[in-house]
Amino acid sequence: MDAEAVDILIAGGGPVGAALALALEGSGHGVVLAEARSADSEGARADSGGARGAPTGDARAIALSYASRLILERLHAWSGLAVTPIESVHISQQGGFGRTLIRAADCALPALGYVANYDDLQQCLYAAPCSARRLSGARLSGFDGSTATVQTQEGERAFAPRLTVFADGARIADEGAAPAYSKDYRQTALVAWVRAAQAHRGRAWERFTPEGPLALLPHGAGYALVWTTGLDRGAQLRALDTPAFLAELHASFGDRLGTFIEAGARSAFPLALRYRREETRPHSLAVGNAAQTLHPVAGQGFNLGLRDAWELARLARNTRQPGSDSFVDGYRRARALDRRAGIQFTDSLVGLFSNSDPLLQLGRGAGLLALDLLPFARRFVARRMIYGARGLP
Ligand SMILES: Cc1cc2nc3c(=O)[nH]c(=O)nc-3n(C[C@H](O)[C@H](O)[C@H](O)COP(=O)(O)OP(=O)(O)OC[C@H]3O[C@@H](n4cnc5c(N)ncnc54)[C@H](O)[C@@H]3O)c2cc1C
Repeated sequence: MDAEAVDILIAGGGPVGAALALALEGSGHGVVLAEARSADSEGARADSGGARGAPTGDARAIALSYASRLILERLHAWSGLAVTPIESVHISQQGGFGRTLIRAADCALPALGYVANYDDLQQCLYAAPCSARRLSGARLSGFDGSTATVQTQEGERAFAPRLTVFADGARIADEGAAPAYSKDYRQTALVAWVRAAQAHRGRAWERFTPEGPLALLPHGAGYALVWTTGLDRGAQLRALDTPAFLAELHASFGDRLGTFIEAGARSAFPLALRYRREETRPHSLAVGNAAQTLHPVAGQGFNLGLRDAWELARLARNTRQPGSDSFVDGYRRARALDRRAGIQFTDSLVGLFSNSDPLLQLGRGAGLLALDLLPFARRFVARRMIYGARGLP
């Protein structure tokens, strides 16, 4: 089988891969985006014509930082997206003193971020004008450094890309690359839409408990709940009937929002940190979760992945050889600081807050208190979370 020559093959059309295809518009490179999911339930032709994204059935909501909004606007994937603005974030710890409130006004921004459904985000990215060839039902099954094999409903296709970009999510442990660093948090993120007696008024809540963080993000008329617990407790909570589940949520979160009165379907995500220390395959790169899969605490994963895509596309505009060693090295260097900071920030938050050590509890309380008293420290933390380690995109 002859391999089809192409400038850039993106393997994985999740939100980061889809955003990368858009960001490469006008770069002069011919782009193929191969997404494993089919565009419709019947199974489908391989070439979707780019008309719409495959439904993901993914229940998670994503907190988009203000910087992600700026990028999505430039990709023409923002105006149709249903979002709920986050105007403030309240951070506290269960059973300990100290709390802080970070407001959008601290950073002179209209909102700290925005909450959207993963699926809506995906649909918006596929609705934006894009000249890349977007294949659905197309699963990358092999890559030997020069040829990429893609399984489609019509059979196997081979591509010879100058650059192959892995955007296939958390599948970084395989594919024959350098072994990925992996740490199983032995935690579950339980995700559901919930409503409380009190309206949210644009406020997000992050409450650290010894079992893990419990986040309530303003989402439509209620909240997107991301409740991190140990594995057994997660399974128990998922199995409860709705009134018992709402009562458990109230007991864990406390009285600040009154009682919880409604809950949608619950989904669970196992949590791990995974990333590659180094890439060993030539002519290839990884972006988004394929490069680093983070704990959802502080909602950094997609925001970091979108910055990967934005930077890669920016560099690709200035080269005719996107798979060259110098291009690949330049990209890795450009992303190293932001990537490392995102990994360390989320991993240390999990370590620092997910335990009941009295000394650590004291230290955490003092930290939250200091943050509350020091506007410049709040501004620093907020800007880091919004823009990453490298500042405005
Ligand atoms: C509970 C939870 C809450 C989260 N909340 C936030 C948040 O608030 N803010 C935030 O920024 N991040 C959040 N994240 C992280 C965020 O969801 C991810 O960082 C983001 O989805 C990564 O996008 P991606 O496109 O890299 O990978 P994915 O979303 O995993 O998409 C990968 C895509 O690749 C496709 N694929 C897989 N294998 C192949 C293959 N072999 N060939 C072709 N295609 C393939 C898949 O079908 C999929 O479409 C959260 C994560 C979880 C689990």
